[in-house]
Amino acid sequence: MNILIVDDNDIDLEIGAHLIEAAGHKAIKCHNAKEALLLFESDADTTPNVIITDWSMPDMDGSELCQRMRGLPFSVSPYIILTTADSIEDAEVNALEHGADDFIEKPMTLRSLKARIRVAERIISTQLNLKNLALTDGLTGLLNRRAGMTAIQSQLARLERCDAVHGCMIMCDIDYFKRINDTHGHTAGDIVLREVSSRLAETLRAFDTICRYGGEEFLIFCEADEVTIQTILDRVIDIITKEPVLLDSGDALFVTLSMGCYVNNKVQALSDRIKHADALLYQAKNSGRNRYITNIDQKHKDANRAY
Ligand code: GH3
Ligand code: MG
Ligand code: MG
Repeated sequence: MNILIVDDNDIDLEIGAHLIEAAGHKAIKCHNAKEALLLFESDADTTPNVIITDWSMPDMDGSELCQRMRGLPFSVSPYIILTTADSIEDAEVNALEHGADDFIEKPMTLRSLKARIRVAERIISTQLNLKNLALTDGLTGLLNRRAGMTAIQSQLARLERCDAVHGCMIMCDIDYFKRINDTHGHTAGDIVLREVSSRLAETLRAFDTICRYGGEEFLIFCEADEVTIQTILDRVIDIITKEPVLLDSGDALFVTLSMGCYVNNKVQALSDRIKHADALLYQAKNSGRNRYITNIDQKHKDANRAY
């Protein structure tokens, strides 16, 4: 785990960092609170979940750093431990009242630090689990609809600042899925949903967003130009259709899906983009399924053509 240590005293900073490393973690050092705040503002993804900060520091002290951190929009809020050698009245209670999670008196010992880091790890992992539960779909492990919409919304906000890139909204729907349930049972249907999800996730790039939009519907958002998006769509059709899904019964089931893909590089509301993708999906279904239709090239693309 990455642990941030903040101290204006060079010797204390080195001792703290040394203890963190001795406890089996990576120490990230900051000499003052401003530097620490800057780290969180500049790179939210790689920032540490645990902060051990000195209390008495010039400019901004540890308790103010605590309060400022509590105002930042973390999805998992960092575990903050205040530490001091100074005799501050009621230091421990004071630290907690200022938003710290814990307090250690200096000099820190390896044993007390280790024990506190273990508590921090437990609390953070609980937070991460809760966050995952709230964001993911239980059956497929993909983002759920709400989390997917939030992710796409923030991708769109970024895209709209640089209008050179196309945003591609893809609505996918498994073909004749009800028949799979009816013929092979609901459990088989679930296996198909999981397999299709994992193939989709595998085919798409890490920076594409994919979510389970509804029962057997998936919503994908890609940043791609008009040529690239067709390659991506071809790849999706290919990975879904070329191998059958293996069921518990031993049966091998070939599955197909239909997609509507709406490409647009202008500012447009998420809900409108989805409406367009939905209408294109409807066309793909009505023109025979197992294909995609985009607004770039309205020609029907039969997915069964030779690859
Ligand atoms: P089309 O080709 O037009 O898309 O037809 P379809 O049969 O795929 O679509 P329809 O909307 O008629 O049926 C979807 C079915 O998906 C109905 C519903 O019971 C089933 N379904 C929804 N969620 C789940 C799920 O989590 N697991 C399983 N096994 N089935 C589900
Ligand atoms: Mg100090
Ligand atoms: Mg369907």
